[in-house]
Amino acid sequence: MIRTHDEVELDTVVRSKEVLTDGVVSLLLVRADGESMPAWTPGAHIDIELADGIVRQYSLCGEPDDLSSWRIAILREPESRGGSRFIHDELSAGDRVRVKGPRNHFVLETSCQSILFIAGGIGITPIRTMVEEASRVGLDWNLVYGGRSRSSMAFADELVERHGERVRLLPHDEAGLLPLAELLSDVVPDRLVYCCGPEALISAVEDGVRHWPAGTLRMERFSPRQEEIGEQTSFEIEIGSTGQIVTVDEDTSALDALREAGFDIDVSCTEGVCGTCETGVLSGIPLHLDSVLTDDEREANDTMFPCVSRAKSERLTLNL
Ligand SMILES: Cc1cc2nc3c(=O)[nH]c(=O)nc-3n(C[C@H](O)[C@H](O)[C@H](O)COP(=O)(O)OP(=O)(O)OC[C@H]3O[C@@H](n4cnc5c(N)ncnc54)[C@H](O)[C@@H]3O)c2cc1C
Repeated sequence: MIRTHDEVELDTVVRSKEVLTDGVVSLLLVRADGESMPAWTPGAHIDIELADGIVRQYSLCGEPDDLSSWRIAILREPESRGGSRFIHDELSAGDRVRVKGPRNHFVLETSCQSILFIAGGIGITPIRTMVEEASRVGLDWNLVYGGRSRSSMAFADELVERHGERVRLLPHDEAGLLPLAELLSDVVPDRLVYCCGPEALISAVEDGVRHWPAGTLRMERFSPRQEEIGEQTSFEIEIGSTGQIVTVDEDTSALDALREAGFDIDVSCTEGVCGTCETGVLSGIPLHLDSVLTDDEREANDTMFPCVSRAKSERLTLNL
């Protein structure tokens, strides 16, 4: 599946910075030229360029109807290499930041009967906007939201105030781990499951929906999935439009080989998590090592992320 990106690069100004909960701040970004922000849909994220050229992704968590600003919420990562630490400690109202986006790899599908949303910690950011949209279109939905403690859970009170019993808050220090067996044991016809949160939660939900119909789970990872990569082998890329062959050595990424051959591929995280470098596959079988595609999307073999993914077949023909 090729996802459409209507991305732009913009200079923005931090209009305000607010502490939301323990360890989470929220920023309102407005355009430096005073114009409206580009439109976005629930589940979308942006790239934000921070000090020393660091680029990080943050989900838009404001109101899609209000294009006067974009809102993001950032958890302080204790082991930060600079992204969240810089935002928490250095960035202030009035500062300029360059952003790119919006990009949406976590699209809300509203043609189903019902949706179970499962959010863990800061994974609430894309889901907050999705539950509003689900309500707006009259979908039957429920949200189960876990976090370390009630005081660390962004948007928790607001979600309960707005949506009452549809929202179940389960702070870990009061309720333990999310009751995934209870939530996922019975297959509900025409229900989708949307999940965003830490790797352990996403992996557990992936396991929990194995007996559900293919395509039930939609998820977004904020950090790369841990995967056994094994020994890397060389392979060839055929450029679909010209037939040119680019060889990818064992110790080079497909992205670097393509760039060395002169292809200007847009890239951001280089870890297979942001989705910027998505490239269509016309033939051949990719070795998917990204953290964006679901199992079904991987099996379709029609798209790949060359910053990390490689090939199972000797040759891949890419839509370039
Ligand atoms: C689509 C998407 C949406 C996102 N939305 C949000 C959001 O709404 N809110 C939010 O807070 N975050 C969000 N994130 C995560 C965010 O982009 C950053 O990854 C996060 O803020 C941490 O960045 P950092 O630079 O502070 O930490 P990093 O330095 O990136 O550290 C993150 C983790 O990586 C580990 N690490 C350290 N060094 C390395 C290394 N050399 N290689 C690999 N790993 C290392 C650290 O131990 C730490 O556990 C999103 C990510 C994606 C992909």
